Amino acid sequence: MNACAYPLDVLPRDKQLAYDLQRSLIHECGHLIVGDHVGVINSFADFWLYEDVDPVKERLVGGQCRCFPPLGGRSNQLMGVAGIVAEGLADEEIDGEYFFCSGSLLDYIDGEPNAMSATDLEAAGEIDEELLDECADVIQRRWPDLIAEALHYLGQFEKRYADDDDVVAAASSVRVRLEGLASRFQMLDGALNAIRSSHS
Ligand SMILES: [Zn+2]
Repeated sequence: MNACAYPLDVLPRDKQLAYDLQRSLIHECGHLIVGDHVGVINSFADFWLYEDVDPVKERLVGGQCRCFPPLGGRSNQLMGVAGIVAEGLADEEIDGEYFFCSGSLLDYIDGEPNAMSATDLEAAGEIDEELLDECADVIQRRWPDLIAEALHYLGQFEKRYADDDDVVAAASSVRVRLEGLASRFQMLDGALNAIRSSHS
C-alpha cells in the first residue's frame, strides 16, 4: 500500500519484482473475491511484466481483472475499493502486531492522488470508513480463498516468464510470503465461528 515503505531505488530487480508481484496479486485477487461475494458470475485476472521501465519510477508488474456482469450501487463501490483494502490487509506486521485501520487507509487514499487507479476510484464513488470496513470484513472472511487465487495466478505468471531468472527468484519468495499470509485471519474466523455456534 505504501510505496515509500521500500527504498525502490536500491532494490535489485528480483526483489522489486517480488514486491510488485505480491502487491499486484493481492490487489487483483481482492477484486475477484469481493466480486464473487457481491454476485459477479464470471471473472478472471491477468498479470504481465513491463519491459524497459525505469524501476525507480515505475512498477515492473501490471495487473487487471475483468468481472461480468458489471454491477451497480453498493456492490460496485465495494468492488472499487477491494484492491486497495486487500493490499492494506496484507501489509507487513509491525512488532508482531497487525492492525487494519480504515481511518488510516482513508487518510492515505485522500492524501495520495495515485493511491487508487481511475477505474477503481470511479467504481468506488464516495469512499468513507464504513465502505472500507464493510469491504475489509468481506475480504477477511474469504482470506484463504484470496490467497489460493493469488497462488494460482502466481503459478501462471511463473510459467509465462519461466525464462526470466529474476521472475523465477521473485515468484519463489512471493510464494513463501503468500503461504505465510494464508493463516493471518484464522483466529478471527475461529472467533466468529465460536460466536455463531454459541447462538445456534
Ligand atoms: Zn484495482
